[in-house]
Amino acid sequence: MYFTTIVPLLPYAVSCGMKFADYGLDPDIIRQLDKLKFKRPTDIQYKCIPHILRGEDILAVAQTGTGKTAAFAIPIIQLIHDKKKKERRADGIKCIVLVPTHELAEQITGVFNEIGKHTQVRTLGIFGGVDQDPQIADLQNRNDIIVATPGRLFDLISQGHLRINRVEILILDEADYMLDLGFIDDIHDLRKKLPKRRQTLFFSATINDYIKKLAYKIIHQKAIRIQVSPKNPVARNVEHSVAFIDMDDKRFFLERFIREHPDDKILVFVRTKVRAERVLKAMKRVEISAVNIHGDKEQADRTHAMKLFKSGINKLLIATDVSARGIDIPQVEYVINYDLPDRPENYVHRVGRTGRGRHKGQAVSFCAPQEMDMLKEIQQYIGAPIAVSDVSKTDYETTVLLSQDDEKDWKKLMEMGEDILSKRKKKK
Ligand code: ADP
Ligand code: MG
Repeated sequence: MYFTTIVPLLPYAVSCGMKFADYGLDPDIIRQLDKLKFKRPTDIQYKCIPHILRGEDILAVAQTGTGKTAAFAIPIIQLIHDKKKKERRADGIKCIVLVPTHELAEQITGVFNEIGKHTQVRTLGIFGGVDQDPQIADLQNRNDIIVATPGRLFDLISQGHLRINRVEILILDEADYMLDLGFIDDIHDLRKKLPKRRQTLFFSATINDYIKKLAYKIIHQKAIRIQVSPKNPVARNVEHSVAFIDMDDKRFFLERFIREHPDDKILVFVRTKVRAERVLKAMKRVEISAVNIHGDKEQADRTHAMKLFKSGINKLLIATDVSARGIDIPQVEYVINYDLPDRPENYVHRVGRTGRGRHKGQAVSFCAPQEMDMLKEIQQYIGAPIAVSDVSKTDYETTVLLSQDDEKDWKKLMEMGEDILSKRKKKK
């Protein structure tokens, strides 16, 4: 163990009665938590903080929006704050947090700097898509913690701008994602470069057996596994349902939904970058203002779109799965899965962009006949059926008919119109 901290043992404490002050945290941290209105630790914070303070490795799984960031940020800031007080030469990077996207790196850097505001602990975000020179300049500023996306981190290490020989803590947020896909080789390379003795922490809302095994291989000491209400990984605060809609009609339903919820912030997920552009255009045609974000957009445009959506200047964001992980946007009332995701766990992450902290949220998925298999897979994954929101035939046809989109299939619409009229006559 590299850091030692005296942690008061509270064997009988229960999460609801526990206060941040009970962990023996520095008053400068407590004061700031008060200011942030963090009155009590959430369950995952309650369970993680003592272990992390003791220098233990953990694999922590808890639903979206339950405060996982602070669950590692608070104890890490405490450990480094302590170390800096005790050791005169406590310079160098002591902790690396790896995350999948630029946006998440910025967000988590913000959380660390906010919680550690009154301490000497400094956190820097390092991510691609922007000029690296300012980041290199910032690296001269005696940072303690780096929050990074893998690509840019490796560039700066290999160019000799970033020394990692003093890193004692490695954190993987969205750990299942970071250990999967393209990142795993990078992570192995990084491990080889890091000091052997270190603390490793994994956090995510979703995990599977394969990733669990991989994670345990990376951890060298006995890891503590912490799991909060894992059975159904969808956050408790999210009410979610599915509506059956043909692929070509989805835009009309989105249009209607937006008109019926003019004051709400809505995050729409689509399957591909091309569709993110198409749906944006379809909304523009019916004079609904929206912004979009996807992997092919310039970083400056991505940042701008996110800013407009976060501030609420623009209440509609159309996104691909790049925004499904970790992003904490205040007051997103609705998530719409315009397309079902490619991977079932992404369903959990997407709908988890609403219903965060104490807020409630709603999610609706538009499921076309060709997406039925994925719907089944998702239900299997979350271990429960998704409620169906019934759309009657008349309702369906009216939605298409009332759309202001000029590119409608008029022949089909005339038929629908006649159908509705004849039904009305029959009713009379
Ligand atoms: P997760 O990583 O679990 O998805 P986040 O760490 O992004 O969740 O936190 C979700 C929201 O909850 C954030 O807006 C955060 O500020 C808030 N939050 C975290 N911990 C607390 C707490 N103890 N008290 C009140 N709000 C909290
Ligand atoms: Mg998170």
